[in-house]
Amino acid sequence: MWDVAIIGGGPAGSTCGSILKRYAPGKRVLILEREKFPREHVGESQLPPINQILVEMGVWDKIEAANFPIKVGATYRWGNTNDLWDFELFPASEFRDEPRPAKFEGQRTKTAFQVDRAVYDQILLDHAKELGCEVREETRVVEVLHSGDRVDGLRLDGGEIVEARHYVDASGGSGIIRRTMGVELDEPGGLKNIAIWDYWQNAEWAISIGVGGTRVQVMSLGYGWLWFIPIGPTRSSLGLVVPAEYYKKSGMKPKEIYEKAIREDPLVRSLIENATPEGQMRTTKDWNFVAKRMSGENWMLAGESAGFADPILAAGMTLAHAGAREAAYTILALDRGSHPAEWLKEQYRENQASRIYQHIRFANFWYHANGCFTDLKAYTSEIARDAGLELDPNEAFQWLGTGGFVFEKVFNGLAGFPLGAVKDIVELFLQKEASLKSAEFNYFTMNLEGAQREKYALYGNGRVEAQERLVRDGKTLPFSGMYYVLAQIISQNGGIDYIVGAMVHAILERGVAKDPDAAMEFGMPYLESMVRDGWVTGEYIEGGPTLEYDLPRFASSIHVNRDMPVPSA
Ligand SMILES: Cc1cc2nc3c(=O)[nH]c(=O)nc-3n(C[C@H](O)[C@H](O)[C@H](O)COP(=O)(O)OP(=O)(O)OC[C@H]3O[C@@H](n4cnc5c(N)ncnc54)[C@H](O)[C@@H]3O)c2cc1C
Repeated sequence: MWDVAIIGGGPAGSTCGSILKRYAPGKRVLILEREKFPREHVGESQLPPINQILVEMGVWDKIEAANFPIKVGATYRWGNTNDLWDFELFPASEFRDEPRPAKFEGQRTKTAFQVDRAVYDQILLDHAKELGCEVREETRVVEVLHSGDRVDGLRLDGGEIVEARHYVDASGGSGIIRRTMGVELDEPGGLKNIAIWDYWQNAEWAISIGVGGTRVQVMSLGYGWLWFIPIGPTRSSLGLVVPAEYYKKSGMKPKEIYEKAIREDPLVRSLIENATPEGQMRTTKDWNFVAKRMSGENWMLAGESAGFADPILAAGMTLAHAGAREAAYTILALDRGSHPAEWLKEQYRENQASRIYQHIRFANFWYHANGCFTDLKAYTSEIARDAGLELDPNEAFQWLGTGGFVFEKVFNGLAGFPLGAVKDIVELFLQKEASLKSAEFNYFTMNLEGAQREKYALYGNGRVEAQERLVRDGKTLPFSGMYYVLAQIISQNGGIDYIVGAMVHAILERGVAKDPDAAMEFGMPYLESMVRDGWVTGEYIEGGPTLEYDLPRFASSIHVNRDMPVPSA
């Protein structure tokens, strides 16, 4: 009898296993993986929040030692012009040359990796083994034995039956427990895409930044988009995403439409001019869903088996690592009996679902707002219709925050983007300014009417802590961090001059910002989120002090590309 049996040795399975062993070395954890690693897998471009999880797992140094390209940002052709623009995780012009392998500090805390999944997934799985998980490769789970909602055991392809107290389905798109338990899926419309990709040897990088740094390339065509992701010193991933419907109607074979797309994109074409394709074309489709249940009596879904949004946001692995970490924390807390089981499981579901829905909403917006999709007007307006998305930037901005701008309970923004970046993206795509709600007023009042107090789960140091928050209409307000500080200040005196003075003082006192300007930049997005989510009501008092401000401009992180020569068509 194992304590935990995990199906799948991808990032979700290894993360769950490593976190379990890190905090409870005595637990008997089994990971069952049908393939022999290394095995190829799509999904190579990461986001910075993964770093912290790799550090917690104790594997960041091993990943860094593998010499994956450092993702310093992304360059896009997307939006209303054909001009390239960059999203910089760290300003390329300030990125210092630094020998590798480097430590997880300084500039490297802001960047991400572009990983060759064959190598990356193997490092993670070996690490889980090193921490004490039993890993069985080439071992397929062929049947989930169950009575009602309870898993009784897993039948392996050799006939053996494995039993455990907890089961984690980290089997990716297979979702073997999810399917066995008949978990319904929500497929919130819009994104029905197909991806076709191959790997290339010796392609040029579009840009080299410092030692080993670059930007991934996301290039729109009239009917889809190409990703170009260097994943090693000589290996790059190059893929095409098109609506499945468009692909079907085109009558082309995957190879034909893939080659046509590359021929039609001058930048990508120039990068692979002297490169060789590995020649094993791969395809996948229908990845857009959210599982309606994420746990049962003794099982949980983790990673992609629980749901996925779309590759455009490069967030799949971030969701998988973050979710699998929380699955491990939930199992640890269930075993400790520290909180009611139903609450722990519901918190787990709520976290995964709100993240995935938020990403799907954001991805819908990216597709809908892309004027470069000249052949896909009908398709993108269908997305807009399904989503109820308006084109007006103010409405679009508010619609993106349907699930609340107080995202991830403490993070202020959407789908991993800070609030100011979300506003910049809306303005960039819709070519019109979105206004700030908080800047329209000079007097503010807390509005907590009808809100319910409840506890939410915070995951840290191997434990689940129950923290207080308010909820109303699907929006939340935590009793912690800047939200708590601002709520107290506004309750004392709602004048904007008082709020700003007290807020700046509080931020400087806590050492979160170095000077008053930085403190304003840090604090004001919180006020804007609280106003947008309805926790604070504003009014304009004639003759009262006013304040002109904008959210911190992300001009330094989102801007027209200025360092890449663009080949002409
Ligand atoms: C076209 C496309 C592009 C993407 N691009 C990106 C990107 O740029 N960045 C990003 O972060 N994410 C991206 N993703 C998402 C990313 O690939 C996934 O989010 C990630 O792989 C999920 O990890 P996982 O561990 O949940 O599942 P997986 O990585 O799929 O791992 C599941 C494992 O389970 C094993 N398994 C399955 N069934 C069984 C069984 N019955 N028995 C035993 N083992 C089993 C499989 O062999 C596999 O190793 C992309 C996805 C798609 C579809």
